[in-house]
Amino acid sequence: MTQAKLTKNRISKKAGSFTESVIREMTREAVKYDAVNLGQGFPDFAAPEDIKQKAMEAISEDHNQYAITWGVKSFRDAIVKKTKWFLDLDIDAETEITVTCGSTEGMIAGMMATVDTDEEVVIFEPFYENYAPDAILSDAKPVYVPLYRGENGWRFEPDELRDAFNKKTKAIIICNPNNPTGKVFNRKELEFIADLCREFDALCFTDEIYEHIIYDAVQSSRFKVQSSDLASQLTADHRLQTTHISMAQIEGMRERTIVVNSLSKTFSVTGWRVGYCIAPPDITSAIRKVHDFLTVGAANPLQHAGAYALNLPESYYTDLQKEYQRKRDFIVPVLRDAGFKCDSPEGAYYVMSDISNFGFEDDVEFTKYLIREIGVAVVPGSSFYHDKNSGKNQVRFCFCKKDETLEAAAERLQKLKAKV
Ligand code: GLN
Repeated sequence: MTQAKLTKNRISKKAGSFTESVIREMTREAVKYDAVNLGQGFPDFAAPEDIKQKAMEAISEDHNQYAITWGVKSFRDAIVKKTKWFLDLDIDAETEITVTCGSTEGMIAGMMATVDTDEEVVIFEPFYENYAPDAILSDAKPVYVPLYRGENGWRFEPDELRDAFNKKTKAIIICNPNNPTGKVFNRKELEFIADLCREFDALCFTDEIYEHIIYDAVQSSRFKVQSSDLASQLTADHRLQTTHISMAQIEGMRERTIVVNSLSKTFSVTGWRVGYCIAPPDITSAIRKVHDFLTVGAANPLQHAGAYALNLPESYYTDLQKEYQRKRDFIVPVLRDAGFKCDSPEGAYYVMSDISNFGFEDDVEFTKYLIREIGVAVVPGSSFYHDKNSGKNQVRFCFCKKDETLEAAAERLQKLKAKV
């Protein structure tokens, strides 16, 4: 092969400005070192039998060609019905829903449809790692606002959030229940954010894929930090809330909110890549165009199975919640016993844990050691921060795993205890 004479950058500035996903990389490392994988958030147990059966039937019935680009009608109708039941919101299946290839595509398609170059997008930090590349790919300028670990769980300082908004602010991204912190935003916090969105005419992207994974009140935190009076007021009644509130339910927010959701976590089918965006009609038609040219559409037969899944009775969701609460209540004491400082998450299925007890240089060194020597894979905390230093004392565990997987991890983590 002749040596190409390089006069141009072969890699775009955009692609060059973010790294590969660390979450996905940790799964590859787990396989390589035969570690128990508590890194990437996907269930290692079987997806529900009846939902799989519906997917197989849909293939047999030949739903195998392109679906309508913005989604199979019966699936959109099921989204409408389920959203009415769960959030009491009236959504129009014809003009307000776009079915996407997972919430991952939903978020990026939504941002590309709405954000212009140099407009700012506010992101709470730590954040699910996709949001930073999403901002780069959609030409948005990310503005980070810290979440602090405090007495009442993770919270933001209202003044810092207010300072992050200005006339260039196009949107804020929230993930609620939150990956990676396990925070569940309460009504007062959502109202505070909503007021800012209205004042600055900003949109809200709300990633609600963990809407059904939300737990009963938990014990108070070991982390005591000073916070302002206003921050304390916002979280004062925090423990009373054990239900999900969508930003789209907050008064005046429906018309400026893009709800990003998915089948992945609720129905344990992360590999199906079926998600959806709910947004007002003008934004939906922009999202549909972006979505069409990015992917044409999500898998047709799996949307048919999704229509069935979203029609399951309420008991499906209560069982899911109970099951994850049981797993949470198993893993948190195990982690504390092994020397991690961590709180019980209020929602989602992750535990952000402080590793300063172990005396490692940083989270990456610690994670390597944990995978290679102890045999448990996690995600280094720095992958959830733009300033890697901020995450250097944390790692994220996920617990959406079989009991035997969690037990195997618990046993291996005993070895770590001996080293504290
Ligand atoms: N949401 C999951 C996590 O945070 C999986 C992410 C992914 O790999 N798409 O681990």
